[in-house]
Amino acid sequence: MEDLKLQLWLAKDGMFTEVCKHDDHTKWDVSFLRSVRHQLDMKGNLSEKQWTMVAKIRDKVLAPPKPKETIQVNEISKVLEFLNRVPNFSSIRVAMSVPIAGGSSGNADWFLKMYVATDKSKFEGQLQLLVSCDPDFQYGKEYLGRVDLNGLFFPHFRYSNVQLDFEKQAIKDEAVNTLNAIALDPEKVVREFGQLTGQCSFCKRRLSDDISKAYGYGKHCAKKYQLTYPTKKQFEMQGGVA
Ligand SMILES: [Zn+2]
Repeated sequence: MEDLKLQLWLAKDGMFTEVCKHDDHTKWDVSFLRSVRHQLDMKGNLSEKQWTMVAKIRDKVLAPPKPKETIQVNEISKVLEFLNRVPNFSSIRVAMSVPIAGGSSGNADWFLKMYVATDKSKFEGQLQLLVSCDPDFQYGKEYLGRVDLNGLFFPHFRYSNVQLDFEKQAIKDEAVNTLNAIALDPEKVVREFGQLTGQCSFCKRRLSDDISKAYGYGKHCAKKYQLTYPTKKQFEMQGGVA
């Protein structure tokens, strides 16, 4: 009876389509279903083991969606206002100091990269977040989640480079703290990134002159993002510090 139901459903294409659009589907599920459908067409039946797998995938698709964990980011509009100061804003990178499990071992430097989803995305206008231990985001880069226009952060729980649950939670919390810090004082947050890495948070250029090094971003980007950038004379008068 169970087998018959599964067969009928499978034959109707409904399950295959459902799996493809389902949030939790994996490429494996899709290719597995594709192959068993083919086998069903050719041979008229599947092995007991294959039917069990089909039933598992079906259960996953039919299960009511798990309520997604969300965290409120209070002033997301201020963060977006800052990023959207530049039309066609691409991305910025900022530093996060994430506590290491145990407390006594101190903090680890992580980096948060953010961009605004374009009209090609179903999350158009929302903030997309990536994390990495690498300020260049060349390796170990992972998707952290998105923040919608109401400030609801939908964390994404893979973090394959992070073993400890404690650290996963800490990265998530620190991302929220960092977004709140940007809302409060964006200049301070991009400056910290520049001072830590020697790179401009916006354009990735190496900070070469004394003013840019002190301020943590370059002259060109300061103008674009309406950030403080003193003249040489002003900089000298304030003692060569930001
Ligand atoms: Zn720059």
